Amino acid sequence: MKKSLIWQLIVAFILAIVIGVIFGEKAQVVQPLGDLFLRLIKFIIAPLVLATLVVGVASTSDVKKLGRLGGKTVGFYLITSMFAITLGIIAGKTFSPGSGIDVSLEGKEAPEANETEGVVQTILNIIPTNPFEALSSGNILQIIFFALAIGIAITLVGEKAKPVKQFFDGFAEVMYKITGMVMTIVPIGVFGLLAPVVGEYGIDVLLPLIKLILAMVVGCIIQLFVVYALIVKSLGKMSPIRFFKGVFPASAVAFSTSSSSGTLPVTIKSAQENLDVSKDTSTFVLPLGATINMDGTALYVGLCTMFVAQYFGTDLSFSQMATVVLIGTLASIGTAGVPGAGLIMLTMALSAVNLPLAGIALVGGIDRILDMMRTSINVTGDAAASVVVDASEKRKLQTEKRQN
Ligand code: ASP
Repeated sequence: MKKSLIWQLIVAFILAIVIGVIFGEKAQVVQPLGDLFLRLIKFIIAPLVLATLVVGVASTSDVKKLGRLGGKTVGFYLITSMFAITLGIIAGKTFSPGSGIDVSLEGKEAPEANETEGVVQTILNIIPTNPFEALSSGNILQIIFFALAIGIAITLVGEKAKPVKQFFDGFAEVMYKITGMVMTIVPIGVFGLLAPVVGEYGIDVLLPLIKLILAMVVGCIIQLFVVYALIVKSLGKMSPIRFFKGVFPASAVAFSTSSSSGTLPVTIKSAQENLDVSKDTSTFVLPLGATINMDGTALYVGLCTMFVAQYFGTDLSFSQMATVVLIGTLASIGTAGVPGAGLIMLTMALSAVNLPLAGIALVGGIDRILDMMRTSINVTGDAAASVVVDASEKRKLQTEKRQN
């Protein structure tokens, strides 16, 4: 079953490319298949995260463990994001994708600088003033907060809250079942989303920026097959081949949807079923990662900042690069896992180092392509975190058992 899904996905990829190349913009006709899939997975997210996380927390019944899990997860996310953005800067230095390119900015609109909310407000925003609004608008961080509160309170109340726990238990199982049903059409959805994109982008759009695209590809390959491979092997004690095979359905969906939040149900299912990550860990680490951990986006921000600097013939000083690393890491926490969010982060990074925002217009033309790549990395990074945190939790449990 797992093997056949991987094959079906590979066939979907090949078919999408063939149809896109042959039919060009006419390949749009299959878009409804993609939209159908997209709507179905978005439809699962809010109830799935709420129910599964409540159950996870309520059955942990240990606030200390929760704090430990949170600390490890956030620490892992911060370190890998910083690393990824540095990798992006190095790729930008090595490939110099912005020097000597033949793209004019004339006629392209420069975007407005985005108003950022500041660190304090971003943190305050995690608390929903109306939890039902959080559910209805699909604000994942706020839903996590709501679920944590319910889960912890169920444990504290004890006997009387049992029916509530049982309700969420059953509800979580129902949501897993629905996710399983939606998963059966993943290859069709991937095909429906990908073919129109392939059809839309002609060589004339891609060629002038080919160096940037290649630099991004190389950066992504290093992040995947060096950074994550080493991390899951050394810290997660898992063979990298098993990891990449297991995470492939989630990476493929991320690639075609350009949304790590939208991919979340598939990421959770792949982590639990293919990578043996426990339900407790996966339902906590992965929803959090979909919103606050974006290694691919961090890499992209590092690379594109260098690209824009090179286009305008300026050199970034070491302290400016350090600023980009810091801003990029912070921005990835406050930015949602939706298509195009990376562009907002890039705006923040460019204005932090006083580079012309018009540079965004340069990247804008091919942003969808870069978005597909960075979103797959984002999701793979979340899955790597879940493997590492789970392995460390399991080790801790074993030591505790031995001591007792
Ligand atoms: N699309 C990315 C994601 O959902 C965010 C971005 O635009 O970089 O993870």
